Parts: sequence; structure tokens; C-alpha cells
Amino acid sequence: MTDITNFIRPEKPLFLAVEHPFEAMMSRFDYAAQLLNLDRGLYKVLRNPDRQIIVSIPVLMDNGEVEVFTGYRVLYNTSRGPGKGGIRFDKNVTLEEVKALAAWMTWKCAVVNIPFGGAKGGVVCDPMSLSVGELERLTRRYTAGIIELLGPDSDVPAPDVNTNERIMAWVMDTYSMHHRHTVTAVVTGKPVEMGGSLGRREATGRGVMIVTREAVRHLGIDIIGATVAVQGFGNVGSVSSQLLREQGCKIIGVGDISGAFYNKKGIDIEKALEWVRTNRTLAGFPGAETMEPEELLELECDVLVPAAKEDQITPRNAEKIRTKVICEGANGPTSAKADPILQEKGILVIPDILANAGGVTVSYFEWVQNRVGYFWSLDRVNDRMERMMKESFDSVYETAERYKVPLRIGAYILAIDKVARTLKLRGIYA
Ligand code: NAD
Repeated sequence: MTDITNFIRPEKPLFLAVEHPFEAMMSRFDYAAQLLNLDRGLYKVLRNPDRQIIVSIPVLMDNGEVEVFTGYRVLYNTSRGPGKGGIRFDKNVTLEEVKALAAWMTWKCAVVNIPFGGAKGGVVCDPMSLSVGELERLTRRYTAGIIELLGPDSDVPAPDVNTNERIMAWVMDTYSMHHRHTVTAVVTGKPVEMGGSLGRREATGRGVMIVTREAVRHLGIDIIGATVAVQGFGNVGSVSSQLLREQGCKIIGVGDISGAFYNKKGIDIEKALEWVRTNRTLAGFPGAETMEPEELLELECDVLVPAAKEDQITPRNAEKIRTKVICEGANGPTSAKADPILQEKGILVIPDILANAGGVTVSYFEWVQNRVGYFWSLDRVNDRMERMMKESFDSVYETAERYKVPLRIGAYILAIDKVARTLKLRGIYA
């Protein structure tokens, strides 16, 4: 068992964090770059995105009128390989947010050592108000608008908030029609029938389980009987709950958009999943008592998995968190200003760029399978992913120990160092 207290309390004070999405992320980047003694020129390159595209997307609506939507695609850095990152459809998408998420993807791909750079896309829309036909026309026209960026060797999108397998199938088809042949490797997260990988749907939750298991082992906590609370019961939250339960954990709290649920004897996750399959949310689930949504994050437990959305742990509630480990299933669930509070409390935070990287790792396997034209068994996908997640956890842990910093900054140091080394070897093209 390792004593973590010395490296979760860095010798230098933590950065002064700001909460603007790009700057909040970059404040962590700056701190890591400072500890790495990053070359000034490389620092300037890595603080700026390679390319940012804004497109206007005219769509013929079902009522016969034309609406114009705005879409973005940002290639943040592609020195290690093609851009990789999801496309989100959301009313509140901004270029600033897409830029931050694209940078995030750059570090995430480097942490798990896959040969991709970072990218992200977004369309400002309310997908719930669109018919299937409108959604398809929007997706295809957005794809056509950014087509010069896309390609298996240049930029490979994937699903993100409010986009799914079906939307990825339309992206792949539109790209393929323009290129006059089928190009499956242009996008990942596709349906298995048309080149998707086995295990992709469960990959992020499986990765969360693997790094949680590694973290509790380091802390000397027995996984059997370890108590867990999970916020979010969608793809990441439900699969994490199910797999942690299979490892012997006791899931004492779960929650989704409809509310939060508690059972100190342990929630029957299979029954909760069945309930959600029929009723869409956990509302009314009989296997647990209800509590206030904010109480879920404040439950006394061994592991807390925020797997819903960003900015859930902030200076407003960080002081009240009573867990030993936070495993960030969601992207950005902890605000930068909450980091030092959790650190002061001695909570081990497994940062998003490591914790939820199982998804992009299996996306990489999907791209490899598409390019080779040979498909792997589920066991092969899961075994390779497990090996890569464990190796990444160990590398982040060792880096954090070496620099005496929290795991988040360790992950950033590891990632920035990898990207910077590649940039240095490639040199600056003039
Ligand atoms: P999802 O849409 O399948 O599920 C989201 C869940 O969060 C739902 O249960 C929803 O009810 C719940 N939720 C939404 N708002 C909430 C709120 N205010 N309070 C409590 N619960 C709330 O999404 P997902 O794919 O599971 O993604 C969840 C998070 O994980 C996101 O941050 C996403 O970016 C991140 N992530 C997902 C993947 C992936 O492969 N799906 C990969 C990496 C990161």
C-alpha cells in the first residue's frame, strides 16, 4: 500500500483557477507545463488549436421552411495522429466549449497512448425538438460542411452528447457518398452491423471499473464490500454500476435527471436497469428510498462516480464530499476551483482524461479493425482495453508520485510531455 498523502499535497501551491471552460482546462495545463519546464515555443503551440471551422447549416424543416443552424469542428492538435473526438448536438454549444473539449481529447488520447490527436465538433440545436428526418438532414449537411477536415487519416469523429450510432451511420454514409466508396474508418461508435466494434458501448464504464479497482487497491481498500455512489445512470453510469457490482462493490446510491436513490444494503443494479429500460428514468424505482439530488454526491462512501455532466463538484459542495476516491466518469465533473478543496481533504481523484478513456481506447480499436478489415472477438477487445487502462493508470500514478502532485496534474504532465516530444521531433515546418 502506498501513502498517497505526500503526493496529493504538492509542494508548490495550486494554480489560481478560473471557471471559463477553455481557461479552466488550460489552468491545469499551465500548472503541468510549469512543472514540466515546457519549452516556451512548444507551450505557445500547445495553447492554440490547429484549426477551427464554423459552418452555417441550412436545413429544410418538415414544415417546408428553411432553418440555418451553426456547427463547429475544432482540430486542436494532430501531431500524434488524426484528430479524434465526438460531435455534440446541444442548444448551449459554443466554439469556446468545443475548443476546450478538443484540447481535452488531445490530452486524453496521449494519456492512454493511442496514436490520435484531439478534436471535437458541435452543432447548436435542440435535438429533442427535431424529427428524425430533420436530424438526418442536419447531420448530413454538417458532415458535408466539414468534409475537408474529415478522413481516417485526418479527423475521425465519434458520438458525444445527444448523438448516437445512428447519427454516426449518417456521417459515414455522407462521407462515403462524396468519396464514391465506403469508408468505415472515418467515424467510430458506429452500429456493429456496419463496422462498429464489439464492446464499444460498454467501454467507458468498463474503463471506469478498471481504474477504480486499481485505485482502491493502491489505497488498501477491499473492493469486495466497498461502498459506491454513482451520479448518472445512462451509458457510463449504468455500466460502471453494473461492473463495479460484479467486482463485489455495494452500490448504495444512484441518481439520474429524475432524482437520487439510496439503499444502505446495496441497490440491485439489474433491477434498476430493467426499471430504466421500461420507464426511461429511475423515477419511481421501488428498490431504494429517494433523497435530494445533491445528497447523492455527499453520501459517505468509498468511491464516488460522477457520470452525468460537467461542473457537479464545485466550491459550493466540495467541502461536503465524504468519499475516499472520486472516479470521473463524466467529462469535467469537477470544476478547477474545487480541485484544491478535494486535495486538502485527501480525496484521491481519478481524473476524467484517464477515468473515462476506455471509450476512446475502444474507438481506436474500431478504427484499427476498420482499416485492417478484420474484426476482433469481444474477449480480445476487453483484454486489450484492460491492459491499456491498467498501464495508463500506473503511468499516471508514477508521474504523480514523481512530481508530488494530484493524479489530475500527473495525467496532464504525462500527456503534455508525450505531445511535446512528438512536436519537438517533428519540428516546426516553415
Ligand atoms: P447518457 O446521456 O447516456 O447519460 C447521462 C445520464 O446523466 C442520464 O442518466 C441522465 O439522466 C443523467 N443526468 C443528466 N443530467 C443530470 C443531472 N443534472 N443530475 C443527475 N443526473 C443527470 O450520457 P453518457 O454517455 O453516460 O455520458 C455521461 C458523461 O460521460 C458525459 O459527461 C460524457 O461526456 C462522458 N463520457 C461519455 C463517454 C461515452 O462513451 N458514453 C465517454 C467519455 C466520457
